[in-house]
Amino acid sequence: MRPILYFIPFFFLLIAIEMWVAHRRGLKLYRLQDTITSLNIGMVSQFVNTVGGIITLVMYSIIVDRFGAFTWDLKNPLTWITALVLYDFFYYWVHRTGHEVNILWAAHVVHHSSEEFNLSTALRQSSTGFYFRWVFYIPLALLGFPVQVFIIVGLIDLVYQYWVHTQLIGRLGFLELFLVTPSNHRVHHGQNDYCIDKNYGGILSIWDRMFGTYADEREDEKPIYGVRKPLQSWNPIWGNVHHYVAIYKQARATPGWRNKLMCFFAGPSWVPPEQAAHTETFEPSKFVRFSTPSPQWMKTLAITSSVIGTALLVHFLIVQANLTMGQRIAYSAAVMVSYFLIGLAWLHPKVLKAAHE
Ligand SMILES: [Zn+2]
Ligand SMILES: [Zn+2]
Repeated sequence: MRPILYFIPFFFLLIAIEMWVAHRRGLKLYRLQDTITSLNIGMVSQFVNTVGGIITLVMYSIIVDRFGAFTWDLKNPLTWITALVLYDFFYYWVHRTGHEVNILWAAHVVHHSSEEFNLSTALRQSSTGFYFRWVFYIPLALLGFPVQVFIIVGLIDLVYQYWVHTQLIGRLGFLELFLVTPSNHRVHHGQNDYCIDKNYGGILSIWDRMFGTYADEREDEKPIYGVRKPLQSWNPIWGNVHHYVAIYKQARATPGWRNKLMCFFAGPSWVPPEQAAHTETFEPSKFVRFSTPSPQWMKTLAITSSVIGTALLVHFLIVQANLTMGQRIAYSAAVMVSYFLIGLAWLHPKVLKAAHE
């Protein structure tokens, strides 16, 4: 059984608490379509990663078995602390390249596609990062940290990052100096000029300070959440693939092999030199969040689909150990197709037209 299963009630409980506190303070932090989309993206990523995550674990296990240099005493707390700090360091580089190399950004962009910032945003995890992320952790395997240690410190790093996705917690004094906090992670999710490519840390922000990517939240210019090429969709599957499609189209339209390669491997804002003069800076006051009509029937459909999806996910996580790989893929694919169709329905012109009437 995947350990993340145990955290699902805890995640939902904290979302409910955040909604309640925000309501009492008169803050509008949640919009239904955005929240449901975040939940659906999180759910889809869990389905995919129960299959995709196996690649990471198999590769890691092979390397540690063949090349692991040291034997670590698992009863010694220092083993765990060392593994966690090293994992967090490599996470910094996974995350940084996920922002600064376009084809890797195509996997990570989905985490940034919400134009809100709340605990449900944390659940927007990528479904396509599994094919490359494990490469960054090879040094941990070479050092001989057993696969169980790798799984547990990875889980700690991931679960830690949940609570920093909130606007209800202000700056935290000296903790800002070395920890990833809600304040400095808000900057990470901003699309303002001062937020771009900043604060990549998982648990520790010291890596950002060491490598020159740290920025404090500004009182005079609060972050505007989202990305500069907005998703403009509530479809969890499209959220995961849209930037791959955009890169493909850009590469096709760009003349010259060198420039075509740059479309994949340069930063997401790269454009051919002759177009560079047209790039714009971000104007916070002009930003308009994506929204669509949301009549009662659509709300009911949205909530129902998420409840059924979550129930299916819990069922899948419980039984998946007894399923063959083919059955796992079939189960995941069936859910994926359903969510793709629901996502299409939400934005179908006829549906939107009916919603207006
Ligand atoms: Zn990021
Ligand atoms: Zn985040």
